[in-house]
Amino acid sequence: MSTGSSPYGTPLQGVACDLCGSNRDQTLFTLRDMMQTTSDHEYRIARCRVCDLIYLNPRPYSWDIPGLYPAEYAPFKRSALGTLARKWLHKRTVTELANLVQAPRRVLDIGCGTGELLEQVRKSGNPNVLGIEPSIQAARVARENRGLDVRTGTLEQCALPDASIDTVLISHVLEHLPSPRVTLREVDRILRPGGAVVIWVPNAASVPAKVLGRYWMGWDVPRHLYAFTPGSLHRLIGTTSLQPGEILHEKHGIEWSWGLRLWAAERFENEQLNGALAALHPAMSIGSTPLGIISSLLRSSGRIRMIAWKPFD
Ligand SMILES: [Zn+2]
Repeated sequence: MSTGSSPYGTPLQGVACDLCGSNRDQTLFTLRDMMQTTSDHEYRIARCRVCDLIYLNPRPYSWDIPGLYPAEYAPFKRSALGTLARKWLHKRTVTELANLVQAPRRVLDIGCGTGELLEQVRKSGNPNVLGIEPSIQAARVARENRGLDVRTGTLEQCALPDASIDTVLISHVLEHLPSPRVTLREVDRILRPGGAVVIWVPNAASVPAKVLGRYWMGWDVPRHLYAFTPGSLHRLIGTTSLQPGEILHEKHGIEWSWGLRLWAAERFENEQLNGALAALHPAMSIGSTPLGIISSLLRSSGRIRMIAWKPFD
């Protein structure tokens, strides 16, 4: 296993492919942490030569990972317009997934953050909601401000009973996990027969990933340990008893706005410009929606959703 130098005082960890166990990989490219600028370290994005899974290798050890999420990490702190836009998106998600999230189904959101999506599920009339969130700060906000049942930790640490959940939501979380395969095996165990898991991930085989290249927000090193494609997501589901459904290609414009911001930050290194583009970000994201619609029509969106089902037998 290869190890590398590290910005954290401990070495980085060389890892085998989570999907097939192979140690044979090739470098796709190297990338700095452009989104949070936690360090100038160049991270290596690798592709497994056997199964094509794309992952960060080497990567930070688990104990260094919390330090890679600054206190102002975007999902925990948003602008008013950003909050409104997300609320609208969550409401739309709850409407679209009505048959999966309505009472009396027991709904679990893994990596629920401050509980925005769970709150919308509860508002739609289903009180049977549970969240799991590793950030102590975000989990506390979910409990104290929203009155949600949110447990601090990982899915594995919570050790929920077998077949105790009807619907699992896991939105933009799988790519952050040390072993998506192990976590999905746990999801498989806690789902009751006939239950479903809804997975949202960035799509590294998408138009925005190809057009924006290193400025695509879906890389987000070193917080994203994996970059999935529809193919690798299918193969990952294939390691469980779950049955994969069709992939939905979402229509968001957010990646184009982030792409412009990351490009401008690297090109001009101008704090005032960065600040101005950050302030314009929610408006630019909404304004870029037509690009998201085109990617969706081409079935090549940068953000995809898959529902996988737990069989009855
Ligand atoms: Zn592999």
